[in-house]
Amino acid sequence: MAPKKTKHTFTIARRIVQFAALLLFMAPLLVVGYGLFGNVSGMEKVPQTAAELPFFGSLSSSSILGIVLLDPFAILQAAAAAKDFTMGWLIGILPIVVFYGIIRGRAFCGWVCPVNLLLEAVDWLRAKLNIKVVEHAIPRHAKLWVALGILVLSAITGRLVFEMFSPISLINKGILFGSLTGLITLLAIVLIELLWARRVWCRALCPLGGFYEALGTVGLFSVKMDFDACTHCGHCEAVCLADPEILQPALSGEKNRVVAGDCMLCGECVDACPTRALSIGPASPFPK
Ligand code: SF4
Ligand code: SF4
Repeated sequence: MAPKKTKHTFTIARRIVQFAALLLFMAPLLVVGYGLFGNVSGMEKVPQTAAELPFFGSLSSSSILGIVLLDPFAILQAAAAAKDFTMGWLIGILPIVVFYGIIRGRAFCGWVCPVNLLLEAVDWLRAKLNIKVVEHAIPRHAKLWVALGILVLSAITGRLVFEMFSPISLINKGILFGSLTGLITLLAIVLIELLWARRVWCRALCPLGGFYEALGTVGLFSVKMDFDACTHCGHCEAVCLADPEILQPALSGEKNRVVAGDCMLCGECVDACPTRALSIGPASPFPK
């Protein structure tokens, strides 16, 4: 069982950001539904399409106050499928790549992705039901190969292959077009996580996580380790959302921080550490 955490600072901050992101991405769907169903009493002008909102879109493609933001992994698939790359795509992905490149790639997984939020709820439920599952079912780098495979398949088929089974896009399409495919995919992932292996989707299989893992090998923010304060209790490893093994180089004193591109900067390890040996902050991209 995961240890009782000494504080919940990062968990609370992440929940606020995760729910805010969820609401933001649900808003266009809700407003379109609101307009379509004619629930307009008392409003002078109700948006009839999502494009009339200051924000619209999904995690794959969105627009905030007219600034277009595109999911870099979806664009890589589009480029592979079309065997072409346009300036518009570059402009759309640049803010995302620069933002997560500076912070750390998988901060997207830890702080924004709604699937991670759901699977953290599955973790909680499994603990409540006292269900025991395996911790490591598939090696964490498998998602890099899944991402690469998706790009190769996109090039061969001329289609955006991950978008065909991505739980996030399928849920969006499901709400808009009444399809149940997204819900069924998500349910399958939840059941596998609940009954077979902890965090297998985010840790090992999600190609979007694979893309952000590759981007996360750079980044100016890290989990930093005060080796002298560490008592080697293992609490940080027990709660790690990415993979306990990524803490090993810091715990053994080989590195002064977590260097793996897998780290989500979720801060669960920082909250769990009873001796305050861990912290998150700016760090040199060249760790000692
Ligand atoms: S860093 Fe903190 S939680 Fe992790 S082993 Fe050391 S004392 Fe325990
Ligand atoms: S090392 Fe810490 S911050 Fe990074 S994923 Fe694991 S628990 Fe989260």
